[in-house]
Amino acid sequence: MNIATQAVQIGLEWDSRTGAVTVPIYQTATFRHPGLGQSTGYDYSRSGNPTRQSLEAGIARLDGAARGFAYSSGMAAITSILLLFKQGDHLIVTEDLYGGTYRLFEQIFSQYGLEFTYLDTSDCQLVEAAIRPNTKGLFVESLTNPLLKVADIRALAAIAKERGILCIVDNTFLTPYLLKVLDLGADIALYSGSKYLSGHNDTICGLVTVKDPALAERVYFHQNGAGAVLGPQDSWLTIRGMKTLTIRLDRQQQNAERIARWLESNPHVTRVFYPGLENHPGHDLMKAQGKGFGAMIAFEVATPELVEKLLLKTELISFAESLGGVETLITFPAVQTHADIEPEKRELLGINNRLLRLSVGIEDADDLIADLEKAFASEA
Ligand SMILES: *Cc1c(COP(=O)(O)O)cnc(C)c1O
Repeated sequence: MNIATQAVQIGLEWDSRTGAVTVPIYQTATFRHPGLGQSTGYDYSRSGNPTRQSLEAGIARLDGAARGFAYSSGMAAITSILLLFKQGDHLIVTEDLYGGTYRLFEQIFSQYGLEFTYLDTSDCQLVEAAIRPNTKGLFVESLTNPLLKVADIRALAAIAKERGILCIVDNTFLTPYLLKVLDLGADIALYSGSKYLSGHNDTICGLVTVKDPALAERVYFHQNGAGAVLGPQDSWLTIRGMKTLTIRLDRQQQNAERIARWLESNPHVTRVFYPGLENHPGHDLMKAQGKGFGAMIAFEVATPELVEKLLLKTELISFAESLGGVETLITFPAVQTHADIEPEKRELLGINNRLLRLSVGIEDADDLIADLEKAFASEA
């Protein structure tokens, strides 16, 4: 079944008693037992809640996974997955990583004896060369943040499999609609559901899918044990968002391509990073492994003054963190999402004080371009 259909079907099967077409919000902490030693299948909502399970089954279906899991945030999902590792384990990680993930690894998990090496995971040889006897995990962003480098998931998953390393992919920027990382060989896919999956900038949520049933059982043990589960209201909102995932992303991609080409021809813009542009180094790989290029654009303007104009003088486009929603947002990675990375390291990665990031929404592309044009032309 096509993913557009699967997405709409989420939650539809749940309430056979009334035939409700959306899953009910089971706002309950606990469940009555029918008898001694008996259970309806539900005992306590941390361990299992029907609304959350409907979402979990839905994301699993979209990714072709054995099971799915929903957490209270993307960071909670990543934390729960990192609990699969133990003291002394080493992980190889994408270098231009989501800032919050970098902070979690460097300032929290490093205190528990996990070791991390950051490198350009779009270069498989670098990854292979960094493997040590204690390397147990490969943590990759399928499309990096903010510079939109593309990782060859099939090749990385093959390297990981050969060495008995767990291959984990943060596929937030692409979603199962544009890239099915489990089909390409990854063991675990994870998502900040706060972004494209819920899609309306109204929910914080994390999602995980796992291919192997035995590994899924371990992930469930940690989800229930550590307990950062998604509540039923937010599970319901995420399901509602996911039903329109494919049409939102189709429109967002169309808009992103128009805007990227417009930015490329703009004399105030010195560089444009969008994998849908033929000159992007990951363009061919994206075309080969996925179904699209996403709707995130990074671009560098000629002067820091232009940064200020774009952030403050755009009107339709909001100056705000986050991404993936229907509204177009503009961010300044060096001081927002990537503030926790040391300045020298940031500069080295290319996250400088002239770099901006756009999360393109579903508005009319001409209106968005007119908004940018007006901001570029405004008085400082
Ligand atoms: C937002 C984001 C996260 C963190 O997710 P939250 O839902 O904000 O906790 C992790 N990875 C990527 C790529 C993100 O964009």
